[in-house]
Amino acid sequence: MNLEQLFNQYKEQSISGRYLTLDHIKPLLDKLNTNNQVQIIGKSVLGEPIYSYQIGTGKTRVYLWSQMHGNESTTTKALFDFINLLNDETELSKKLLETFTFYSIPILNPDGARLYTRANANEIDLNRDSQDLTQPESNVLREVFETFKPDYCFNLHDQRTIFGAGTTGKPATVSFLAPSYNEEREVNDNRLKAINIIAGITEELQKYIPGQVGRFDDSFNINCIGDTFQFLGVPTILFEAGHFPDDYEREITRKFIFFSLILSFKLISENDLVDNRFGEYLNISQNNVVFYDFMYKNVKINYDGIEIITNFVAQYKEELIENKIHFNAYIVEVGELEKYFGHYEYDAKGQEYSDDFSNFPKVGQKANFYLNKNVKFVNGLIKS
Ligand SMILES: [Zn+2]
Repeated sequence: MNLEQLFNQYKEQSISGRYLTLDHIKPLLDKLNTNNQVQIIGKSVLGEPIYSYQIGTGKTRVYLWSQMHGNESTTTKALFDFINLLNDETELSKKLLETFTFYSIPILNPDGARLYTRANANEIDLNRDSQDLTQPESNVLREVFETFKPDYCFNLHDQRTIFGAGTTGKPATVSFLAPSYNEEREVNDNRLKAINIIAGITEELQKYIPGQVGRFDDSFNINCIGDTFQFLGVPTILFEAGHFPDDYEREITRKFIFFSLILSFKLISENDLVDNRFGEYLNISQNNVVFYDFMYKNVKINYDGIEIITNFVAQYKEELIENKIHFNAYIVEVGELEKYFGHYEYDAKGQEYSDDFSNFPKVGQKANFYLNKNVKFVNGLIKS
């Protein structure tokens, strides 16, 4: 199976970038809805529809939802790429549809998607609401779980650019977690299924992105949806789409999520889950907070007449302005920052910092500055 080729063939061209709302996916759902496969299964806080899309007749039931966190759109893109594959009436799609029944919720949090926020319109993190179920979106997710009775749950997210895989300076382009079902973080048969799938996906992904696959911390928190579903006895996998160098629109990471979905179903359908791959799972590098978007090294700073050579870092804020996401870089820390990396690194080699306001980088200020008064940086990047 040539995954690259499949991605090129099935990539949904009408959606791209980070800002993905119901307006973007509604035309796709309308096109897919030839035989009532699309349903409105609930309403968001602000009254927007929550859509589901179901396909397949197989006995293995898979439940997938994305954009539980509204600003985490990468997996929604990959989900539609995968749905295109399923609808192409090839040998592969026929086999998948005979083996599986897929039930997906492409944007669980349409208000957050529109506002480009993690939380819903009541400012509740839906991934901390799986016990209290105070929000309409949480209830929709739970009701489908009760009625669809999945054999597997795929909890699809994006993670911030701050995460590295291990401490080697590689970004965590894709991370996974088989959530715990108890405080002791034990491994039962169900959790082991999730663990084995993750080990299998990772083995393949490493061929494309060596060292860029991460494993999330498995501390138990029953308020998180993955932990709840695992606790309720259904193998659950957390997918986190992360940073690939220079890919802030996450169009490359999207591809690796698409790969991961196909690989999962290949592993499940080949019943390749009988081994115990817990050791391999534990060998996946742990997700660590080790990155900033920008790191400037060996910068001379003249502070009150004292000259020092130090480092400073900047981070993008993703700001929604007139229906577009703007990546605006702000200075967030000054200091040695020894264990950290920058996705963009610049060695100033002792050149002196200045900006339009002062002679030292201030936390919270936009990353617009000069080195030796003649090298100009605008929004974090060198301007030639
Ligand atoms: Zn998330």
